[in-house]
Amino acid sequence: MESARRAAEHDHLTGLPNRRAFEAVLREELQLALKGSEQLSVAFCDIDHFKVINDTHGHDTGDRVLKFVAGLLAKASNDRCHVARHGGEEFVMLFRGKTAAEACEAVDRVRDDLAHRSLVNRTNGERMERVSFSAGVANVLAFEDPRAALKAADRALYLAKEHGRNRVYLATETE
Ligand code: GH3
Ligand code: MG
Ligand code: MG
Repeated sequence: MESARRAAEHDHLTGLPNRRAFEAVLREELQLALKGSEQLSVAFCDIDHFKVINDTHGHDTGDRVLKFVAGLLAKASNDRCHVARHGGEEFVMLFRGKTAAEACEAVDRVRDDLAHRSLVNRTNGERMERVSFSAGVANVLAFEDPRAALKAADRALYLAKEHGRNRVYLATETE
């Protein structure tokens, strides 16, 4: 039973909670934030040009990059910061007690950390091109419902991509 539940709620590759588990966490954290009059912010992080990484180095190396990025994001998480694999090469983070601007700073520290690492392709020992991600961050409580906040974070992510990638953008709070 326990292992079936784990499999249903976790992503097999990275070991992170999956999207379904994240949606449950989002509902719980929203209630906690409302009850405690705390901030709640959400971030979408998407690896830049990940398709090129797969195409250049192969799917197995791509998988290892995914695991590595997942590990860096997980290192930044705690009981008030949850990270999950939302799907593909996209991760989501939820920060209770942080304004969207503070969450932006926290995500940007991880972004900066990753962008300065030189990863090596374990298959052939070759140094890989820099790996980075872009992100969009939104204040959950500024929107009608969490779904609208996620959409806003996704729009900010899209702009971060458009404006050159390897950057973290704050979502505007007006539709
Ligand atoms: P962008 O900077 O615009 O985000 O470009 P991108 O290449 O990262 O985005 P795109 O959506 O074109 O490609 C995402 C790729 O991620 C395509 C898909 O094959 C790959 N991918 C998704 N899940 C996995 C996985 O579990 N393992 C590996 N190796 N690749 C994956
Ligand atoms: Mg993507
Ligand atoms: Mg991508």
